[in-house]
Amino acid sequence: MEFDTIAAISTPLGEGAIAIVRLSGSNAISIANQIFHSPNGKNLFNQASHTIHYGHLVDSETDEIVEEVMLSLMKGPKTFTREDVVEINCHGGIVSVNRVLKLVLINGARLAEPGEFTKRAFLNGRIDLSQAEAVMDLIRAKTDKAMNVALGQMDGRLSRLIKTLRQALLETIAQVEVNIDYPEYDDVEEMTIPLMIKNGMWVKEEIEKLLVTSSQGKILREGLSTAIIGRPNVGKSSLLNSLIQENKAIVTDIAGTTRDIIEEYVNVRGVPLKLVDTAGIRETEDIVERIGVEKSRQVLKEADLILLVLNNAEKLTIEDRRLFEAIEGMDVIIIINKTDLPTQIELEEIKQLAGEKRIVTTSLLQEEGIDELEEAIASLFFEGTIESSDITYVSNARHISLLHLAKETITDAIEAAQTDVPVDMIQIDVTRTWEILGEIVGDTVEESLLDQLFSQFCLGK
Ligand code: GDP
Ligand code: ZN
Repeated sequence: MEFDTIAAISTPLGEGAIAIVRLSGSNAISIANQIFHSPNGKNLFNQASHTIHYGHLVDSETDEIVEEVMLSLMKGPKTFTREDVVEINCHGGIVSVNRVLKLVLINGARLAEPGEFTKRAFLNGRIDLSQAEAVMDLIRAKTDKAMNVALGQMDGRLSRLIKTLRQALLETIAQVEVNIDYPEYDDVEEMTIPLMIKNGMWVKEEIEKLLVTSSQGKILREGLSTAIIGRPNVGKSSLLNSLIQENKAIVTDIAGTTRDIIEEYVNVRGVPLKLVDTAGIRETEDIVERIGVEKSRQVLKEADLILLVLNNAEKLTIEDRRLFEAIEGMDVIIIINKTDLPTQIELEEIKQLAGEKRIVTTSLLQEEGIDELEEAIASLFFEGTIESSDITYVSNARHISLLHLAKETITDAIEAAQTDVPVDMIQIDVTRTWEILGEIVGDTVEESLLDQLFSQFCLGK
């Protein structure tokens, strides 16, 4: 395919010592050559692919030196977009990087739309749709593990599995065609139905396995929404601080000072937590605090994991007991904090209230028990067994809904095959499943869907 040459700043604006302006398209090298001057007068067209060159960018109208740059030359098809790509490494400041961008635009490049580089990689057959989406996830990935999921998807783990499933479906479709073409061979029909059931069941099982990972995939991507709750002054903010190991939440000696909800992402043994520190769930007359309390209830409803903090140095109160009621049936870890102080709390009663829930004791002041808590969080999430690296996770909402749909249609096909429905009727559902799975990797998607997807990308990607 032939496209015009696009350009964009492909590094975050305003950050870092170096910024990159990326050019892609058939004129990428000629545009760069027009404005690039190397000390020994190199012509970029005569340079090998995948080489880096030092020099200056010169405004051809004014002969003025615009920037000192390192220029990476990458000739297609061995590039991200499969087109000729030139990356101009310049100084990171917003002024200088904008000057470079402007210069390439004046010299014939067009400003890329959001996600257009990735879209080209897709359109030029370099990556499939699920890989393109992975690029987007990668940009947004908040934790190492989320990054690994995205990387796994990008290198095509999900695509390969989907392709294998589609292959199995295609095999049965082909078999049916034979069946229709040669109706006189009875044994063909006899073979077709069992093959349909066998392959259909296998496809269904694999889809189900993928769907099981989807909730974890979502958590890995968006973070396990974790609420820290407890009465005022038990040590919620201290816990938040211990976990984020920096002091963003305000810790004070005055009860009820966490006025608002603070959100923070942390990575606990590979489990991404989106931590929220709440003002404590309790009845209160203080108007400012009440906002916090109402928000707390909301947070509680939406949380995947609750860390309930109790104070070892005080007897259980009615508020503590009410909190236990509020978290019935949720994933909870109970933290008895301030173990450096004399014990007042009734351990036996807590054990009763806790039931199956895990209890961890800490002294956040003396930095004790945090390891044990982190271990409890990790084992709750991974159940101590799951190794994320060898699982194909699905975390993308579009993939998940397509997988649900595919599961429905293949289930219909299997059920039909198990009764006396004619083979060519069953074929419709099998073909439909094959199409739906194709949408995940982008084999059967419409143009409008593509535009919508790629417009979600950051500019320059
Ligand atoms: P929050 O209101 O639940 O957020 O409680 P804070 O984290 O603000 O802590 C209230 C007070 O308890 C602060 O003075 C903390 O320094 C103190 N504190 C927190 N953890 C411990 C602990 O393990 N031992 C002792 N002795 N004090 C603690
Ligand atoms: Zn607090």
